[in-house]
Amino acid sequence: MKLDLRSDTITIPSNSMLERMMSANVGDDVWEEDFTIKELEKKLAKIFGMEAGLFCPSGTMTNQIAIRVHTSIGDQIICESSSHIYNYEGGGAASNSGVSIKLLSGDFGRLTVDQIKDSVNPDDPHFPKTKLISLENTCNKGGGSCYDISEIKKISNFCRSNNLGIHLDGARIFNALIATKQNPLDYGKFFDSISICLSKGLGAPVGSVLLASEKFIYDSKRVRKSFGGGMRQAGYLAAAGIYALDNNITRLSEDHARARSIFETLNNCSFVDSIYPCETNIIIFKIRENYISNVLNVFDKNMILYSKFGKDTVRFVTHLDFDDDKLEKLLKVLKSIT
Ligand SMILES: *Cc1c(COP(=O)(O)O)cnc(C)c1O
Repeated sequence: MKLDLRSDTITIPSNSMLERMMSANVGDDVWEEDFTIKELEKKLAKIFGMEAGLFCPSGTMTNQIAIRVHTSIGDQIICESSSHIYNYEGGGAASNSGVSIKLLSGDFGRLTVDQIKDSVNPDDPHFPKTKLISLENTCNKGGGSCYDISEIKKISNFCRSNNLGIHLDGARIFNALIATKQNPLDYGKFFDSISICLSKGLGAPVGSVLLASEKFIYDSKRVRKSFGGGMRQAGYLAAAGIYALDNNITRLSEDHARARSIFETLNNCSFVDSIYPCETNIIIFKIRENYISNVLNVFDKNMILYSKFGKDTVRFVTHLDFDDDKLEKLLKVLKSIT
């Protein structure tokens, strides 16, 4: 039995998701004729209380479109140093939008309003214009950490009174909503644009949606076309997203509970040097130096797949194809390592 904890992107569509996809009513979306895509965009916009949505092939594309629409060439955006838009999008902010990035070092990926206040550039020709603040929730490299909505509110108020855009990389926003019981409508109020992945914990095979105002989405559609992301009968994919929203949101709490048991077991393992707080479906831990090769060998032998951050740090991500049988086997292996 393979225990694949590399990412929550590795899930395979269930039979009922595939049935929903196969029976989708589709058309050419570039010609605005795919009503399944429109249904998905509307449904997600409504959950967050935003005006409109735009279906895209990936979360990288929804983030990159948002950056392009928020900024002009030469501007600067501010984000946390571990954020996806800086580390994992191929340097797209520079190559797609011609902007620079100011990195702040946060608390497990989270920024505070005071940090942001201190880092906005003054209006002086020496400095790039600060245009956009981008937050990530949950923070992937922060170990799936969640923001307090009170901090987001303060950051949003600051952005709005200082003419700064505010974007959310919400690849795993539903994990945060389920873990903290926050209200998605608050996110729609506090952010100008939100990127949401359907292909992570929600279990769809492909797709992300950008949410924003009608005007912002109108502009985003042209950018999506220029990035090569205008798709035709992609309603088959959107149908998987609709299925995921209807069936796979509340079950995220199961992924969180399984992550919690892994976290608690690791906490008692002598090979663990340190471990990030565990709030959602991500567990990040550092292995003690003299245990590294042994632990990784045991993982390999038992077909435990993981992501590696550097030479001694491992990330496990729980997801809908990681069930209780697999959890039991994993915990047994972890406890057996001495
Ligand atoms: C996965 C992810 C994205 C988008 O990734 P794609 O693979 O391009 O869909 C964006 N932000 C975060 C935090 C992610 O984890």
